[in-house]
Amino acid sequence: MSKTNSASIWFSKQVLAWYQRSGRKDLPWQQNPSLYRVWVSEIMLQQTQVKTVIPYYLKFMQQFPDISKLAVAEIDLVLHYWSGLGYYSRARNLHKTAQIIQDQYQGQFPTQFEQVFALPGIGRSTAGAILALALEQIHPILDGNVKRVLARYQMIEGWSEKVFWQWAEYYLPQQSIRAYTQAMMDLGANICTRTQPQCKQCPLQLRCQAYQNQCQLEFPQKKPKKSRPIQKKRLLILQYNNQILLQQRPPTGIWGGLWSFPECDWEQEITQFCLPFISGTIASIRYGEVIQHDFSHFRLQLLPCYIQLKSKDLQVSESKPLLWYNLAQPPAIGLAKPTTDLIQQLQLTTNLRKNQ
Ligand code: SF4
Repeated sequence: MSKTNSASIWFSKQVLAWYQRSGRKDLPWQQNPSLYRVWVSEIMLQQTQVKTVIPYYLKFMQQFPDISKLAVAEIDLVLHYWSGLGYYSRARNLHKTAQIIQDQYQGQFPTQFEQVFALPGIGRSTAGAILALALEQIHPILDGNVKRVLARYQMIEGWSEKVFWQWAEYYLPQQSIRAYTQAMMDLGANICTRTQPQCKQCPLQLRCQAYQNQCQLEFPQKKPKKSRPIQKKRLLILQYNNQILLQQRPPTGIWGGLWSFPECDWEQEITQFCLPFISGTIASIRYGEVIQHDFSHFRLQLLPCYIQLKSKDLQVSESKPLLWYNLAQPPAIGLAKPTTDLIQQLQLTTNLRKNQ
């Protein structure tokens, strides 16, 4: 696919003109777009909408204004500032990458594509976006939004990554790359949306094949769905006055490194399971409503079991880091999403008194 005709020039011209008229130019990471600021924003924006990211980004930047501050921070603090954003491996990779940059690049974010691409949590599209947005280097990007625009514009059959990258490269202009990159992201996010594309406002409408054929929603074509197995667990919410027992999850796997309630298998007898944690006697047990979480490869169903204790003699096991979390004076630790939601409910329903 070579740029032998004016098709690619027409495409990028339309996109850039639209960006001048309607693109977003006041996002926090567009101000002083250093490699560090753009990198953090690009990682936060993976799988997450701009309006959700903005408040997290602002707080994160206040706490970790540069790579060295992030590199020396405790991972628990980093996860705390990520709590609620989801996909926590992103935060762990961000932290790990900051340490690599500190050690291997004297704290300076690398500027070569291959070096950036080699860092944890940075794929080809993210590496291209960081260098295009921060340094105006010419690299194509291909996130979900851009894929959708290209799939519809070209009516691309199937899901071949190679084919999508070829089209992304084909339309890439040789100048104004920062504006073009931002424009393509915005176009996919705000105009060529998944279920209701705003074709009347789209700068590509005139030559968009899906629009001409009125089959916009048929592209991108759907990947065949795999059936998701269901995993069932009980969440043990052990409470003594204001305090609840939390356990840190292993560093890998879902919600890796975050704190959550101890879990046991659905079938397991609760009092048996609780023995390693507490010798305090159980005053009462009640059950909440099942919480469902969908992951890419399975569905998780969690049954909250609220267990009131008469005392809280804790047998700490080194293999299972545990802590008593004070609902009235919450410590700054990273919490898994269902844990945050359940803690908020407990804070509303528990008569909170400090120092209990
Ligand atoms: Fe998407 Fe419609 Fe624009 Fe085509 S014309 S790229 S379908 S918004």
